[in-house]
Amino acid sequence: QKEPQPHQTATESDTPEQGHGDTLLTVNQVERSFQVGGNTLQVLKGIQMEVKQRQLVMLKGRSGSGKTTLLNCLGGLDTPSKGEIWFNGQLFSKLSDDERTLVRRKKMGFIFQAFALMPLLSAYENVELSLRMAGTPRSEWKDRVPECLELVGLEKRMHHRPFELSGGEQQRVAIAKAIAHKPVLLLADEPTAELDTGMSAQIMAVFQNIIRTENVSICMTTHDPTILEVADHVYEMVDGKFI
Ligand code: ADP
Repeated sequence: QKEPQPHQTATESDTPEQGHGDTLLTVNQVERSFQVGGNTLQVLKGIQMEVKQRQLVMLKGRSGSGKTTLLNCLGGLDTPSKGEIWFNGQLFSKLSDDERTLVRRKKMGFIFQAFALMPLLSAYENVELSLRMAGTPRSEWKDRVPECLELVGLEKRMHHRPFELSGGEQQRVAIAKAIAHKPVLLLADEPTAELDTGMSAQIMAVFQNIIRTENVSICMTTHDPTILEVADHVYEMVDGKFI
């Protein structure tokens, strides 16, 4: 007699693998203050958040609300005054500067509003440079560079230099650079701010594609309401707190 098959509900079988599995990043009561002219300016006021594997998380809020300060803490470019940041199973916010830099180089990728490409290098050379900086063995570059440029849809623009590319294409090169060394978390500060609506939508489609294919999570800041709907989770920041 045949073994009984495990029961599967319609919902389970109809839902493809969402991948929202384990927690990658946890932020626990994080505060950040700065000393300005003898006064204490509290910018982050008890932030609580989490990013799971393969999630696209957005931080929205007005200019000056504290989004960049939080993103800098998540990326280890700044450290909280109080509270904890756990990343990839480690108490990231309590690592030494050297340890944090190492984790950042190996496990994180960064994308900025203004693309930050090397102007005299082609798209291909820009991605190659990123692999060199990350310490990826040279023998892997030949396969990985075109793979990354294909992932962002730039296989036909590999030998163009930044000034020969549109804004959206330049941002896609920047994404290829950021994922080249296979990070688990991408941090992006206003990645669509310089782009028109059509190009912003393309960037979000690229993000969704790399989440699927590269097993990466993305945490980005934005104040563009037209892209919020593709997020798995949106945190809204007002004056250093989430509402
Ligand atoms: P957002 O990214 O939401 O525009 P920011 O995080 O850049 O906001 O800034 C939030 C507030 O923190 C601003 O008032 C800014 O002036 C202040 N701030 C950020 N960094 C520093 C710093 N290094 N020293 C003093 N104040 C800072």
